[in-house]
Amino acid sequence: MKVWYSEISFSTRRRSEVVDLTDQILQEVRKSGIRNGLLVVNLPHATACLTLNEGESGVKNDLLRKLDELVPPSGNYEHDRIDDNAHAHLKSSLVGTCRVLPVVEGRVVRGTWQNFLVVEEDGPRTRRLSVLLMGE
Ligand code: ZN
Repeated sequence: MKVWYSEISFSTRRRSEVVDLTDQILQEVRKSGIRNGLLVVNLPHATACLTLNEGESGVKNDLLRKLDELVPPSGNYEHDRIDDNAHAHLKSSLVGTCRVLPVVEGRVVRGTWQNFLVVEEDGPRTRRLSVLLMGE
């Protein structure tokens, strides 16, 4: 079994935004040469999220708006006593930061409308995404 690892660096430009990294991730899958196995994508950050969904602007805006409704940026958060980003930590915990997908015959098995979307909640900043492939 082969194991292949890489990291994708990217910058966010706003406090809150959705970044579509599908093209970059699929490029890493091609570079790995692994045709059958597992793709593990992890966002090693506590104030951003990783989800799979449609990369359409309306979906992106709806996602940001709904997360703000569920976890308003300002609230009576204990963490805000030392850092002003408690809402971002909570959103990251709710949505998650890691996804695992099968790779079959060189293709990542995913739905037509399942793009890899990073939800930034504490930008702007430089982020990285880890990409691990295991297989043959
Ligand atoms: Zn914090």
